[in-house]
Amino acid sequence: MPRYHLMETNMIKQKYIELIRVKPDKKIHLKDYDTGWAQTDDFKEVGKDKVKERANEVLQQNLTDLTQVQQLLYADDRYSLLIVFQAMDAAGKDGTIKHVMSGVNPQGCQVFSFKKPSDEDLDHNFLWRYMKSLPERGRIGIFNRSYYEDVLVVKVHPELLKNLPDGKKGKSFWENRYEDINAFEHHLHRNGTVILKFFLNVSKKEQKERFMERLERPEKNWKFSTADLAERGHWNDYMDVYEDAINATSTDWAPWYIIPADNKWATRALVADIITSTLQDLDLKFPELTETQLKVLAEARKTLEAE
Ligand code: AMP
Ligand code: MG
Repeated sequence: MPRYHLMETNMIKQKYIELIRVKPDKKIHLKDYDTGWAQTDDFKEVGKDKVKERANEVLQQNLTDLTQVQQLLYADDRYSLLIVFQAMDAAGKDGTIKHVMSGVNPQGCQVFSFKKPSDEDLDHNFLWRYMKSLPERGRIGIFNRSYYEDVLVVKVHPELLKNLPDGKKGKSFWENRYEDINAFEHHLHRNGTVILKFFLNVSKKEQKERFMERLERPEKNWKFSTADLAERGHWNDYMDVYEDAINATSTDWAPWYIIPADNKWATRALVADIITSTLQDLDLKFPELTETQLKVLAEARKTLEAE
């Protein structure tokens, strides 16, 4: 078998996916995860060009498969899929969503981008605004940022915590939020929602390059925000809160995947592969018609033929 068969025909080797899925009982350190393409010695041996070529093949195959399996998800109408994207700025959330979902029927898919909460949002419990946007059965719901911001940006900037009684901001505040998130996700899982969570792991160096590109290319200027630059100044704090959140909330029912994000082709291939294979592993089926319904169809056919 040629060496470059590190990925099976239309899937990335399960072994590698297992490496980037965070196990509930393990404590991870983000610095142990490669942000580039050279994840394992196998990859290094094969070389960047070959890995990239295979990643693009894997992506194309998955996009075709995803179109089919989404149709089945919709027809089956029992499960929904919630996909959470979290990352530092310029890690590629928007581009990944755009590419991976390009073959998906828009009727069965919704994307919600969560920005700073409104006054109305802040007047409710922190999960309220997200609950209102959950996918219906048969559909895929994408959260571009999510309730995780409430244990990420808010943990880095605790002054954002508003309207809470002082007594509620005690020592175990963040632990309680992780617990609430786990309970919320468990509840969804028990009710037929499949949950996938992707942390797009970009390096500080690559973020700088992408910010520079936004400054240098006029058609990308609109993407640049000085607020993003300010958040970059808190890079280490962000890595700490991401690590804490991922360690506290990667569960069997809602696992985190740490996706290398310095190369867009790697990010997209992995995300597409995980989404597609997760849906393919469900016991989805087209609804079966009852005897009576089949008889009705036969009658309808006769009526049309007799016209
Ligand atoms: P962007 O996704 O780049 O348009 O930026 C959205 C901004 O909204 C980011 O700076 C987030 O950190 C911020 N944001 C999202 N959710 C929350 C939240 N729950 N609390 C405070 N800020 C948030
Ligand atoms: Mg931004």
